[in-house]
Amino acid sequence: MSSEAKTAESYVEKPRTLAELRAEVAAGRTKATDMAASYYDRIAKVNPRLNVYLSLTKERALEQAERVDALAAKGDPLPALAGIPVGIKDVLVMRGAPATAGSKILQGYRPPYDATAVTRLEAAGAVLLGKLNCDEFAMGSSNENSAYGPVRNPVDPERVPGGSSGGSAAAVAANLAVATLGSDTGGSIRQPASFCGVVGVLPTWGRVSRYGLIAFASSLDRVGPFAGNVRDAATLLGVIAGHDPKDATSSAAPVEDYAAESDKPVEGLRIGVPAEYFGEGLDAEVRAAIERGIDSLKAAGCEVKAVSLPATRYAIPTYYLVATAEASANLARFDGVRYGYRSKASETLSAMYRHSRDEGFGAEVKRRILLGTYALSAGYYDAYYLKAQQVRRLLAEEYLRAFAEVDAIVTPTAPTAAFKLGEKTGDPLAMYLADIYTVTASLAGICGVTVPCGATQAGLPVGMQVLAAHLNEGTAFRVARAVEAAQS
Ligand code: GLN
Repeated sequence: MSSEAKTAESYVEKPRTLAELRAEVAAGRTKATDMAASYYDRIAKVNPRLNVYLSLTKERALEQAERVDALAAKGDPLPALAGIPVGIKDVLVMRGAPATAGSKILQGYRPPYDATAVTRLEAAGAVLLGKLNCDEFAMGSSNENSAYGPVRNPVDPERVPGGSSGGSAAAVAANLAVATLGSDTGGSIRQPASFCGVVGVLPTWGRVSRYGLIAFASSLDRVGPFAGNVRDAATLLGVIAGHDPKDATSSAAPVEDYAAESDKPVEGLRIGVPAEYFGEGLDAEVRAAIERGIDSLKAAGCEVKAVSLPATRYAIPTYYLVATAEASANLARFDGVRYGYRSKASETLSAMYRHSRDEGFGAEVKRRILLGTYALSAGYYDAYYLKAQQVRRLLAEEYLRAFAEVDAIVTPTAPTAAFKLGEKTGDPLAMYLADIYTVTASLAGICGVTVPCGATQAGLPVGMQVLAAHLNEGTAFRVARAVEAAQS
């Protein structure tokens, strides 16, 4: 039912599945070291055009691949991700590797430790290829806010890959990694996955440890995977999810076998469709693709019904108050002393702080620090921040009520397909509106998956967002899997 998501200068190449690759490594038909080398070859060819990787971690990757090959040679049982090449968004730290968060202010910073998600991937045998480009401090929806230049969309390099995890989405779409990690605060995994035609996962807040994630807005930040298909994304989530003593906010709830959950049929599941996500501003071709996706769920035996989420209309201002308020506090630590960039030309300590921050941060980050500081300031706190927290509560309650009646909710992931580079850079508000369908789940703390669901006439991918209640990732994967199955 989908037209193939490809345009004239396309770099799209679908990664092989985890199951295939792992079986080959286990049987000794493919060596993990050779697989890593071939990925580095492709990166050398394609990265100059797409700007997906900011740095490579070759030595560490090859050492890990050798360990996997040695295990395979002994005939030992292999872990879930044995030899699988994975890329990491540059907001997650890896010991000794550059961690820029897409910002000039972190230039030269090499953290002395690994993020928990990184540790868990490696413990499962993954080969970590390098660090992926993103919007500065994950603030953006197009990757154009990276201090290291934008990522280009592999489907059409004149278009944005989405953001802020643009590198993570583009890497999977162009087969520069089999899977990747990103972070999602208001849509940063889901929207780029949708723009690049890959699967992206928003885990429940607290499902994956944030230890080693450079903080943007802590009450919203989540770490999650991207992959070329739903089952692989589910496997990745299973590896990185779970309680972590290093993150007191991580959930102690048991981790399900998400891949097995995704295998279950969807017959009899109740699917909610909220009218608020199909109104003004939704591109007609995106709407048509999503409606076809909903039809395929009906055909698979789901019961589709309307649900109502009226507070959705307040979501963008609410998100941009909460996120900026938290960001203004989190980004106070970048002072020119503790990390990365320091301005050279300062006579006093306070001038050094000021100049380092002025020269180190980009325009969007400064805009958010100003907005957030204002929203938290005495006299405005009640009118803005407190009000936003109240609306947040309302949104969460609406979702709870809806999930009493349906198992999952489906919406478009974004109101349009990927837009052109430069199209929205002059208009921050237009850029913020690109997040209209993703920020609600972020504010409510619930989980979701975006899955490719057809394409526009021009061959640009469309993503369907499948949302589920807290800790119900298994259901979201199941529904996404059914939508995926209807595509071929
Ligand atoms: N695009 C949204 C923003 O700019 C979301 C970013 C994110 O999820 N990190 O804040």
